Amino acid sequence: MRAATYSGKVDPPRLVVGEVGTPEPGPGEVLVKILYTGVNPIDYWIASGRYPLDPPKRIVGSEASGIVVDVGDGVNRLKKGMQVSIYPWIHCGECEECREGHENLCLRGGIVGGVVDGTYAEYVKLPEKNVYEAGGEPEIQATAGVSALTAKHAVNRALELCIEKALVYGASGNVGMYIVQYLAKAGIDVAAVTRKDWVSGLGASRVVPPGDVKQLIDEWGEPDLIINPLGGKLLAESLIIVKRHGYVMTFGGLTSMDIPGGVAPIYRRETSLIGVTGGTIQEFKDVLRDLERGVVKPRIWRIYSLDQAGEALNSLFSRERDGKILIRMSG
Ligand SMILES: [Zn+2]
Repeated sequence: MRAATYSGKVDPPRLVVGEVGTPEPGPGEVLVKILYTGVNPIDYWIASGRYPLDPPKRIVGSEASGIVVDVGDGVNRLKKGMQVSIYPWIHCGECEECREGHENLCLRGGIVGGVVDGTYAEYVKLPEKNVYEAGGEPEIQATAGVSALTAKHAVNRALELCIEKALVYGASGNVGMYIVQYLAKAGIDVAAVTRKDWVSGLGASRVVPPGDVKQLIDEWGEPDLIINPLGGKLLAESLIIVKRHGYVMTFGGLTSMDIPGGVAPIYRRETSLIGVTGGTIQEFKDVLRDLERGVVKPRIWRIYSLDQAGEALNSLFSRERDGKILIRMSG
């Protein structure tokens, strides 16, 4: 099969597209022919070696739609020809986190494209429990496993809290665009921080560029929840604008992994910090249903070919990027 492989030692990453062996499914595994794969920052961190893996795999990619083309012994739920989407967290199914339905926190797990070869390839071999039937448009279902799932999980955590107003940084990002939609549908008053005008169509009551956040707070009041997928720099800002005894939710470290300003702003406002990562299998099934029914939808900016995989990955951080990036595997 053809695949984009990386060395793990080059930053920015360099992907090489060529022939590699097509995997064969063993007992309990399925082979999926990839239709579309989503491009995410995690792919970049892994392919550049910034996210050290031991031993590194050859192929990144955690998010994809496809068709089941072969099944190993003992596979019952999935059949050849089914259209599917990939749940990206490899999990044992037996540890205390898995038994409680927190597959994203499996004690022996890891992400597809990190601990096993990923989806920047014509085929991927995965355990049956990482593959779920997904109806509707395969371009849309290719955004389920990382973008929509992370958003669903973050918003489910948010809705456990007593909140009325939420401010979302990175609102036009892969995850942010889904967070805004899910929060607004749940009746939360959402302010979206982004330069992209199209976010106003996702249900936010206010859309402001990053430089106008303080002015927004003066007019709108302090939010009880701030969701920040962009890392340390904006986490520091979040901690000084969140309402007292409010919540700051964080994932990803795009701007920096450190928190400038130290810990004092956290205790002075009695702020609760909440980390989120990925989502559970139940949430993934809910996401597939939501995407099939159009409850939430992605804005897809550009679809690259497999031959352009390197360009696709490096365009993640381009200024002109304006929505989700996909790679189409054939045609
Ligand atoms: Zn486990």
